[in-house]
Amino acid sequence: MMKYRIGHGYDVHRFAEDRRLVLGGVQIPSDRGLAGHSDADVVLHALCDALLGAAALGDIGQHFSDQDDRWKDADSRDLLRHCYQLVSDKGYQLENADITLLLQKPKIAPYTDRMRSTIAAALDVNSDQISVKATTEEGLGFTGSGEGAACHAVVLISHG
Ligand code: MG
Repeated sequence: MMKYRIGHGYDVHRFAEDRRLVLGGVQIPSDRGLAGHSDADVVLHALCDALLGAAALGDIGQHFSDQDDRWKDADSRDLLRHCYQLVSDKGYQLENADITLLLQKPKIAPYTDRMRSTIAAALDVNSDQISVKATTEEGLGFTGSGEGAACHAVVLISHG
């Protein structure tokens, strides 16, 4: 009998000068990027936490310490592959992921399909298993003021 589990992930990063903006594994033209120990890809970090959460494997902070030089400026696709490997080692595979990115600017719609295919390639799944949506919060709160970006991810994993 198939066994299913869901997971949710949430992450926030602050905008900073002199940083690249990398979202969903895609570099996006922007005068500012997100600050963090790794490439600060808030989309992939939320997805990592959703995968880990679905398999009750803890959280991204336990697996990738920001004190660890191995992960300094890390490509978060490597973190994502590692998290999915842990989930796969427990016998699960990804059914689908639904991701909602919250930021005021830049406009993300032109990049969501590339994010989907980039994430799908990293996980070796089909693009139609990955949904990436983006919304502003209408100028409200820390995303609205441009202080930071936030991301939610929900996944369903199955065990055959
Ligand atoms: Mg993070």
